[in-house]
Amino acid sequence: MTEIGALKSSYDVVVVGARCAGAATAMLLARAGASVLVVEQGSRGADTLSTLALMRAGVLQLARWGLLDAIRAAGTPRIDLTTFHYGDRAVEIPIKPRDGVDALYAPRRTLLDPLLADAARASGADIAYRVRLNELQHDGRGRVTGAALESGVAPGRFPRGSSSAPMAQIRRWRNELERRPTGSERT
Ligand SMILES: Cc1cc2nc3c(=O)[nH]c(=O)nc-3n(C[C@H](O)[C@H](O)[C@H](O)COP(=O)(O)OP(=O)(O)OC[C@H]3O[C@@H](n4cnc5c(N)ncnc54)[C@H](O)[C@@H]3O)c2cc1C
Repeated sequence: MTEIGALKSSYDVVVVGARCAGAATAMLLARAGASVLVVEQGSRGADTLSTLALMRAGVLQLARWGLLDAIRAAGTPRIDLTTFHYGDRAVEIPIKPRDGVDALYAPRRTLLDPLLADAARASGADIAYRVRLNELQHDGRGRVTGAALESGVAPGRFPRGSSSAPMAQIRRWRNELERRPTGSERT
């Protein structure tokens, strides 16, 4: 965890929320070369309401990001069969091996979220827990120029003078990400 006082004075991107969506986004942006700050008002590894089910595309992404082994190693059971109930009728659908995925998983969020956050950090992102983004600062044209953050300990405004990335830069990262196969088109 990065303490608020140890953050850089500016970042290309500030991601709000260090759960599965925010942490995965931060990891991909950091791997694409952006300097990334993730702020999460909650605590690392805190539980949240979810059915926990990962569909094939989610499992595939974890495998591609090199994180599925850690999910398995933590004892997450594999799901080889799903059953859909329509009234009294039950339809069983086996999980067919495809795209390198031979089972589905339903990891606890207390496992999945910090795993992705750790991967984002390992990719170069700074992650600050118990820090809330209170407001965005804009220039006269409406462009974001900074973010007002508040830590769980002491309120403060940070990063002063940080700026959103120019659109050309954002497009470069987007193109970089789009060049990579996602696998979602076949799931
Ligand atoms: C009951 C339920 C069951 C679900 N089951 C499934 C399922 O089985 N499979 C599935 O794929 N999806 C499921 N979903 C959907 C899934 O939870 C969401 O699509 C997914 O969780 C979104 O990603 P997230 O957890 O990163 O976002 P969120 O859960 O929305 O987390 C956002 C984070 O941002 C933080 N945050 C918000 N505002 C600020 C701020 N201003 N400053 C700092 N931090 C902030 C919050 O503290 C929070 O931790 C379910 C949703 C619900 C409600």
